[in-house]
Amino acid sequence: MRLSLRLWLASVLVLTQLVSGALCWGKEGHYTVCKIAEGYFEDDTIAAVKKLLPESAEGDLAAFCSWPDVIKHLSQWKWTSVLHYVNTPEYRCNYEYCRGFIFFSFNFIHVSVSIVYVFAFKSIYVLFFFYEGDCHDANKHKDWCVTGAIFNYTNQLISASKNSQSLVHYNLTEALMFLSHYMGDVHQPLHTGFLGDLGGNTIIVKWYHHKTNLHNVWDNMIIETALETYYNSSLPSMIQSLQSKLKNGWSNDVPSWESCQLNKTACPNQYASESIDLACKYAYRNATPGTTLGDDYFLSRLPVVEKRLAQGGIRLAATLNRIFSAKPKLAGS
Ligand SMILES: [Zn+2]
Repeated sequence: MRLSLRLWLASVLVLTQLVSGALCWGKEGHYTVCKIAEGYFEDDTIAAVKKLLPESAEGDLAAFCSWPDVIKHLSQWKWTSVLHYVNTPEYRCNYEYCRGFIFFSFNFIHVSVSIVYVFAFKSIYVLFFFYEGDCHDANKHKDWCVTGAIFNYTNQLISASKNSQSLVHYNLTEALMFLSHYMGDVHQPLHTGFLGDLGGNTIIVKWYHHKTNLHNVWDNMIIETALETYYNSSLPSMIQSLQSKLKNGWSNDVPSWESCQLNKTACPNQYASESIDLACKYAYRNATPGTTLGDDYFLSRLPVVEKRLAQGGIRLAATLNRIFSAKPKLAGS
């Protein structure tokens, strides 16, 4: 598949331009997630990814994983900017794709979804179902958030992978790059932050001597400080260290990270639930507006960031392996 000129130009930007004021894992974070994932690709996935990326990429997905951050600023791609995160209501430390409410009423004027005849009271009850979930945009359009986007692009890739004979109208190169990026984002704890502070974006803090906001601390600053402090500013060295932890300290956890309940292909709701839990326990904790965050915060939060990057990589690989596997699936998608 060939990329359009516009897509190509945007892709080149990813490689050459620093993303200023980023609102996602920075480019180091996304590169790390995708690089770790590449190490766990099965043969079918390696072949599919190579086929979808431009020839010059030589199958290196990691080089394209920040592409959605660059294009979201362009007018024709603005609609994608809400797909990088999901917010929970104020101080709710759990995420729910759907928060459901049921109301009973006798009023027949309103539109109802269900009418029930209750024999005990010989009355007809009208049931009103209001479904309110966390996954929506500012105008309450359902599914417009990072978890909805992961489901959507997973389904697009599945439909092409399992129905190769039928006509597929999706741009699968874009679907692969969006899925790979959003899988990273959903693992950044503050990408499932509170609506009131926009996932920490409005919480102004100092990172050592540098004024910034809490969201940026988690997107970029913790990773950058770790690179400078421990890896001589070498991203490949940091990735190597995480790969080594995956083979040693975390090796027993990897199978559970990879698994997806009920034989589903993608499990973003679980990852978002973990993220808001970590946001409450680590990101927001001791980080009120005006706080100076230094060694105590950095040293206690770095292990969380490292594990989320590793989990993002493992789960991206597992999801793509499930999508592109030639093996017949036992149940559902
Ligand atoms: Zn993003």
